[in-house]
Amino acid sequence: MAQDKVPKLKLNNGLLMPALGLGTWLSSPNEVTQAVKDAIDLGYRHIDCAFVYGNENEVGLAIKAKIEEGVVKREDLFITSKLWNTFHRPGLVEGAVRTSLERLGLDYLNLYLIHMPMGLQEGDGLVPFDKDGKFISSDTDIVDTYKAMEELVKKGLTKSIGVSNFNKAQIQRILDNCSIPPATNQVECHPYLTQVKLIEYCKSKDITVTAYSQFGSPASPFRKPEDPVALQDPVIGGIATKHGKKAGHVILRWILQRGLIAIPKSVTQQRIAENIDILDFTLADSEMKEIDALNRNIRICSNDIFRSHKDYPFNDEY
Ligand code: NAP
Repeated sequence: MAQDKVPKLKLNNGLLMPALGLGTWLSSPNEVTQAVKDAIDLGYRHIDCAFVYGNENEVGLAIKAKIEEGVVKREDLFITSKLWNTFHRPGLVEGAVRTSLERLGLDYLNLYLIHMPMGLQEGDGLVPFDKDGKFISSDTDIVDTYKAMEELVKKGLTKSIGVSNFNKAQIQRILDNCSIPPATNQVECHPYLTQVKLIEYCKSKDITVTAYSQFGSPASPFRKPEDPVALQDPVIGGIATKHGKKAGHVILRWILQRGLIAIPKSVTQQRIAENIDILDFTLADSEMKEIDALNRNIRICSNDIFRSHKDYPFNDEY
């Protein structure tokens, strides 16, 4: 079975994380249940979720069904969710994880991430705006938010905690002020944004890196018309032909062989199957370097609307 072959990475707390998972951003509620069921049947054991994706209930239905069918046990699965920006105030963090747990139908998460370093004013909306149409930030400090995340580990609500979209300085502040180091930093990473320096820094601190939008998020609402499509890159296509594989296979191998975790999203059964069919070939060092050389520092998920936020992470070099 494929799941036996998916490599696992050891986190800095000794727990294991499958190096391949299913992404669920932009998976509509009426498609995601079937996608997660298909993924589990095909051998995926890691599902990447978030409160803000608006589909945790429907992901949870699939998990429940596959446990009830006896296909998997809870302990076989690695489920991630993320704290949304309007819940950064320390007093709101536990309630936020409990909401995700309830929606997913779980007693605990394997990993809970601060979705973005940018806190927003708490309230009902996902992004609060003032009368001039500008987002309203919160004055919370990511260190205080992270300390509240540490309490969730102590209470058994999540096995591991980590961050997402954090830059080097922000991670360093967490390391300097907190007691549980982040298990992972989940960041955009694909052949046009290779993230060499940030990855090197994270690895030096024993923090894994989870690559999101590894195909360059072809359906992202944040793409600009001029953004190139990694899945159509001729260099990647050439390498794929040599191996009798497809471009997506090559990109996922490149992620895994860099020691990163990949979380490709798909709601298409055939692609979900394709994306786990990456365990029977290896890219040569020269091919890895050819892909590395495609870097153009093109960021799709740049969260431009938050550019003026005090904690906007992407103004630093890395
Ligand atoms: P992605 O995985 O790079 O690309 C997903 C898109 O590619 C979908 O449109 C999918 O279409 C298509 N696709 C999937 N497999 C394919 C294949 N083998 N061949 C051709 N097309 C394929 O993009 P992403 O969703 O942005 O990133 C992956 C996951 O990372 C997300 O779902 C989410 O879980 C996470 N993420 C996290 C953050 C964060 O801030 N932490 C930000 C973005 C994403 P179909 O679904 O129609 O098959």
